[in-house]
Amino acid sequence: MRILFASAEVYPFSKTGGLADVAGALPKALVAAGHEVLVVSPWYRTLQADPAPLWIGDVDVPFDGGFEPVGVGTLEVDGVRFAFVGHASFQRDALYGFADDVQRFARFTRAIAPAAHRVGFMPDVVHAHDWHAAYLPLILRHGWHLPDGWPGMPSVYTIHNLQHQGVSPLEATVHWLRLPRSALETGMQHFGSANAMQAGLDLATRVTTVSPTYAEEIQRPEFGFGLDGTLRHVAWKLRGIVNGIDETVWNPSTDPWLPAPFDVGDLSGKAVARTALLEELGLRDGGPVLAAVSRFAEQKGIDLLLDAADDLVGEGWRLALLGSGEAALETSAMALAARHPGQVAVRLGYDEPLAHRIYGGADAFAIPSRFEPCGLTQMIAMRYGTIPIARATGGLADTIRPGVTGFLFADAQPGALHAAAREAKASFDDDEVLGMRQAGMRTSFDWSKSAEAYVQVYRDAVAG
Ligand code: ADP
Repeated sequence: MRILFASAEVYPFSKTGGLADVAGALPKALVAAGHEVLVVSPWYRTLQADPAPLWIGDVDVPFDGGFEPVGVGTLEVDGVRFAFVGHASFQRDALYGFADDVQRFARFTRAIAPAAHRVGFMPDVVHAHDWHAAYLPLILRHGWHLPDGWPGMPSVYTIHNLQHQGVSPLEATVHWLRLPRSALETGMQHFGSANAMQAGLDLATRVTTVSPTYAEEIQRPEFGFGLDGTLRHVAWKLRGIVNGIDETVWNPSTDPWLPAPFDVGDLSGKAVARTALLEELGLRDGGPVLAAVSRFAEQKGIDLLLDAADDLVGEGWRLALLGSGEAALETSAMALAARHPGQVAVRLGYDEPLAHRIYGGADAFAIPSRFEPCGLTQMIAMRYGTIPIARATGGLADTIRPGVTGFLFADAQPGALHAAAREAKASFDDDEVLGMRQAGMRTSFDWSKSAEAYVQVYRDAVAG
C-alpha cells in the first residue's frame, strides 16, 4: 500500500516526545513489510537533518482566503520518503507553544496534499497524527482545491494524547482552511469553537490510539478531556494499537552513547554504565538508582515523584531526573536536589545522549503518570535492563507485566508510588532483580506486530 503520514514531529528530524518516535519508527516498519510511505512534516528552523532536505520549490497552498506559497524539501532515509513543508511560521526556536499554533498547523495540514502531489506521491490512505494534522480527514471530505484523486481519500487518525486538541475560533478556522459552510455541520465544531481533535475523530474513516487500555479509558469522563462522548460515539471505528520502539535506536548492545555495550547474556556493561552515570551526575553510591526522563507536566505525575522523593532518599534510593516543563515542577525538583546533594541529581532540559546514559545506568525507572496513552520510556527502560515502577494506566498497564518485568501501582498518590518502590527495593536487596531485568530485556517491543495491525486498519479504511 501507499501510505501518507502527516505528523508535526518525526524522529530524528524533530522531537518533543513520543509522537516523533512513532512517526520515525512505524514508517520504517511499514517499508520493511513492503509498503511505500511518504512522511510529511514541517520544515522547522531547528530541523536536525544532515544533509538538509533538498528544496524542490514552492507549492500553492489554499489558505486564509487565497493561495500561499509553501516550500517543499525532500529526503529519503532507509526507504522512507520525507517531504518537509517550509513556511516563515516554522522559523522559530521551538516547535510549539505559540499563540498562533492552530493557524500554523492548519497551514501545515492544508499544505500536505499539494506537497505530496508535487513529489508525485498518490496515497491509498492517509494517516494523520494528533491534533496538529487532525483537519486532514475533514479537508479530504469537504475541502476544495485538492489535487485530482484526493477528494474522499480514506484516512486513519491516531490520537497520541487527547489532552491537546487544537481549539481555535470557528469562523477564523473555516476561513484559514478554505472550507465550505458545510464544514460547520461536522465535528469540527465543539461548544462553539473549532476543535481539531474532534474533527479528526468525526471525519477519519478509522481512528486509533496508541494502546488498548487507553482506547477504553478515553471513553470515560475522567480521561476524556471533554471528548469522551464523541469517543463513545465513534467507538465502532476506534482501535488501540500499542506502540513499539525502534530497536535499532534503542539497543544497549550497539548504543553509541553508552560507555560499554551490554545485552541480556552479559550485563557487565550495565554496571560500567551505572558507575559512569553516578560519576557524571555527582551521585554517591549506596543504593539503587531510580531515574525519570520525562516532560515535567501534570500528566506525567512528576509531582507525585517529587512528593515521595524525601522518603525514597531516606530509604537509600538515589534519584536521577532529566526533564523540563512546568516552572513550578522544575523549581521543586531543583530544591529537592539541593536538599540531598550526592543523593539526588536533576538535569533540566532536553538531552538525548544523557537520556540514553540514564536508561543504561539506572536500576529502576519511575513513570507515575496520571494518564499515559502508550508511553515509550517504560519500554526503553526494560530494553536496557532498568525496572519500571509505573502507574497502572494506558499503555503502561499494557506493556509492563507486574512482578515479572516491573512494578505497577493503582492510585495517583505519592504513597502508592512509595509502596511500589519499597516492593521494588526489596527485590534489589534480595537480588531477585536480575531475573526481572532479563525478562524485560527479552521482551520484544519491536514494531513489526503493531505495523501489521496498522496495515489491517489501513485496509479497513480503504474498504470504507
Ligand atoms: P510523551 O508523552 O512525552 O510523548 P513518551 O513516553 O511517549 O512520552 O515519549 C517520551 C520520549 O521522549 C522518550 O523517547 C523519552 O526518552 C524522550 N524524552 C522525554 N524527555 C526527555 C528529555 N528531557 N531529554 C531527552 N529525551 C526525553
